[in-house]
Amino acid sequence: MASTPEALAQAPLEWDTPLYRMAVSQFEQAVEVAKVPAEIAERLRFPERAFIVSVPVRMDDGRRVVFPGYRVQHSSILGPTKGGIRYDPQVTLGECAALAMWMTWKCALLRLPYGGAKGGVRCDPRSLSSREIEGLTRRFTSELLPIIGPQEDIPAPDMATNEQTMAWMMDTYSMQLGYAVPEIVTGKPIAIGGSVFRHEATGAGVVMVVGRACDRLGLRLEEMRCVVQGFGNVGGIAALELYERGATVTAVSDASGGLHEEDGLDVPALHAYAREHGSLADNDTGRRISNEELLELECDVLVLAAREDQLTAENAPRINASMIAEGANGPTTLGADAILAERGILILPDVLTNAGGVTVSYFEWVQDLGRLFWTRDEIRAKLADKLSDAFDRVWDLAEEQRSTLRTAALVGGIREVSQALEARGIFP
Ligand code: NAD
Repeated sequence: MASTPEALAQAPLEWDTPLYRMAVSQFEQAVEVAKVPAEIAERLRFPERAFIVSVPVRMDDGRRVVFPGYRVQHSSILGPTKGGIRYDPQVTLGECAALAMWMTWKCALLRLPYGGAKGGVRCDPRSLSSREIEGLTRRFTSELLPIIGPQEDIPAPDMATNEQTMAWMMDTYSMQLGYAVPEIVTGKPIAIGGSVFRHEATGAGVVMVVGRACDRLGLRLEEMRCVVQGFGNVGGIAALELYERGATVTAVSDASGGLHEEDGLDVPALHAYAREHGSLADNDTGRRISNEELLELECDVLVLAAREDQLTAENAPRINASMIAEGANGPTTLGADAILAERGILILPDVLTNAGGVTVSYFEWVQDLGRLFWTRDEIRAKLADKLSDAFDRVWDLAEEQRSTLRTAALVGGIREVSQALEARGIFP
């Protein structure tokens, strides 16, 4: 067995999972183009810190169940780490490590003073009552106390977590300190220091990026026929924004399946239905289709806003969209990426396209620290500026280096972090 310091350092890849391998492969492709010194690249290939906890919860039927929880902080070189908390049966250390790495590139690309983090609890949130989720959230937050803080690591919502989850996290943290600490999380209710427009920010940001791409391509957003996968915080809002900006949304889906109406769906009505019933299951609008069918529908823009691994080498040859907007993190595998590039289908990559969420989270944190709150119009305008600036840098870099937008976005983010690492050096 090799026993050089380098070989030993790389041997125990605790986070080695398909998603982490995908994040690292994307990193390897981009780092070559970014021309980052080897020793800097080595530092960025692995997360700085990973934390595993066991979260005991008293269930409604009296049982006690212990859930595994994780928080991974990829890089703190530019500031506190930042990233969502998800509750999902597929949460693992490796998934969190991959998502934390993408958060680092995303924050750096948007020039936010943050590094990337991600965390979550492996559980099936749909089988838990609200009281059980509250217990799980409060105990998970207590377990994370040694590593989170407004200047250290600031959680936010992600899959199956929302404003209420963040309120419980904020309350649990504040009770330990004895005073209100709204800046410990973002994506909170407005009543406790949340920012107006945070709830809509990721989905609205997706549509701002699609709009910008249309401008560059000489297309009109209102003439686009769009399909949206996922009808939660990101997909539901993206569908609504597309509808409100005049585009035709021909299909949407959630975990229960999809709805297809060639003439266009009444998205506000579907929103109201999902809010009342918790999902689109049993809604009889249009034609019922499976999620697999939805992905292959003919359209101008396919918005992926459900979860990772949706476009693969298997279904990529049958994708019938001209443009793909990645609202979710990691929805396109490396195999699919290559096939879609070959077929000339434009992919607006996750690190750019869904960055509206973390950008307005940053605005929320700044407002909480300053105890001074901005209006919705101010925030929307600041978000549009930030996304346009990042979009233009990515588009121009892709043209200059003749690469995909994904590689350009990653190169942009990696260069920002690399410059900071070079300037700071290694302690001690
Ligand atoms: P969410 O839980 O609010 O919504 C997820 C939606 O996807 C739900 O409608 C769910 O039913 C649906 N879904 C799950 N599996 C599906 C499948 N196989 N096919 C079709 N639909 C499916 O979560 P969210 O916050 O909207 O996050 C969605 C994605 O966006 C995740 O990848 C997340 O990491 C990413 N993201 C979220 C934010 C944010 O601000 N919430 C920011 C950036 C990125």
